[in-house]
Amino acid sequence: MDHQVDFEAVRHRVKLLRDTGSERVYENRDAVGCPSCGEPFTEALVSTERTCQLSPEPSVDLCVVRESERIVVFTHA
Ligand SMILES: [Zn+2]
Repeated sequence: MDHQVDFEAVRHRVKLLRDTGSERVYENRDAVGCPSCGEPFTEALVSTERTCQLSPEPSVDLCVVRESERIVVFTHA
């Protein structure tokens, strides 16, 4: 199963909230499904750094997809 996430393909359905060059945060605007659990995610953090920092609410569920070049973290509020 291909878990690669193509944000270019869904760029009209998500909104880029932050782009630092090595880190991007997308907001889900059209119930795009999380590739890990299949449920629509709230936000997606794409990081090409080896580490990334998150401070989610205690009630937020996280899904993580590790790709060869980057880590993608999906939050479910
Ligand atoms: Zn998920």
